[in-house]
Amino acid sequence: MRVPYHQPYLTGNELHWLQAALEEGAVAGDGPYTKKVQNFLAETYQFKHIYMTTSGTHALELAMLLLDLTPEDEVIMPSFTFPSTANAVLLRGARPVFAEIEADTLDLDPVKLSSKITSRTKAIIPVHYGGIGCRMAAIGELAAKYRLTVVEDAAQGVHASYRGRYLGSWGDIGCLSFHGTKNFIAGEGGAIILNTTDHDKLARVELMLHKGTNRRQFLQGQVDKYCWMELGSSYTPSDLLMAVLYAQLMEVTEITKRRKAHHHFYTAGLQKYADDGLIRITTIPVDCTSNYHLFYLLFRNETERDRVQIELRMAGIEAVIHYLPLHSSPMGQRLGYRPEDLPVTEQVSRTLLRLPMSTGLKQSDLEYVILTLQRILEKMATGST
Ligand SMILES: *Cc1c(COP(=O)(O)O)cnc(C)c1O
Repeated sequence: MRVPYHQPYLTGNELHWLQAALEEGAVAGDGPYTKKVQNFLAETYQFKHIYMTTSGTHALELAMLLLDLTPEDEVIMPSFTFPSTANAVLLRGARPVFAEIEADTLDLDPVKLSSKITSRTKAIIPVHYGGIGCRMAAIGELAAKYRLTVVEDAAQGVHASYRGRYLGSWGDIGCLSFHGTKNFIAGEGGAIILNTTDHDKLARVELMLHKGTNRRQFLQGQVDKYCWMELGSSYTPSDLLMAVLYAQLMEVTEITKRRKAHHHFYTAGLQKYADDGLIRITTIPVDCTSNYHLFYLLFRNETERDRVQIELRMAGIEAVIHYLPLHSSPMGQRLGYRPEDLPVTEQVSRTLLRLPMSTGLKQSDLEYVILTLQRILEKMATGST
């Protein structure tokens, strides 16, 4: 039996909407399917303004472009994230400042965050790891006190919420991803959310999305020719991909229900080992409603983690590690960071293992993973490995 870490899940309606888009000639950016998904997301998740982008990475880059960063500016983020979060800041010439995560949620630690704030800090990028929301109330308080912009990296957080408010709607700006490995997929795609009613800001992001031109105003008949107005790039996704995403978004409830069932099955099968202190498993704080993006285990040490990963692999089960911390990566060290700067992040990175988590996993897959893992953990508990 083989259980891959991830396989894209199809609802069955993707081809229908893709064909409809092709027949309508909706192929380039900013077409009818882009509008459909924007409207759905804005209404379902209470986003003030949302614009689809070519990726989550590009949404982050656009967010940093909007902040008008200079080389003197600093942007605080966890080191335990995907390189896109830091690249977006570096591409604007500013400095990413890596802060520590909480050992339980693996999200930015608001308490340790405050020590990283300087007169140069411009923004904070909380990353909602695995769809578990950061402590946004505490982060928001700090941001208000020091007048910082909050840009949520909610790439993994679509459909998840914190204290009853959806992720992506807490910050000044939110960034989403619909990459093929996320819960709802376009293949490649993302979105930027602006939780503002400031018309100047909204007008500016529309220019930046369209190569720095006022093409959108032109298409809406507001100006009689379009020209270069701002710094910008090509950030609008093809409507064909948005048609695929539309099919996925029509099933957000069903997809989440399935992932929740996987999560509960894993939890039930592993709770005993967590209670015995052999492993820690993904926990969802009371303030959070998860979208069940990931299910991870944390081991007592790296050796045990690596051993379990190998044994699972020998049984055909693909369990995978996650981020190598940005601060201790070759690029992070070139920026002047040392591995020992963020001990919690280092420890988590060395001991974390993610179990297969695809929407389409079958009950027989889940049972096989748990039975295999139980066998391995039993051996580990009795010290016979
Ligand atoms: C996936 C992801 C991104 C990048 O999104 P893409 O759509 O793949 O560009 C950024 N940050 C985090 C935390 C992610 O998980």
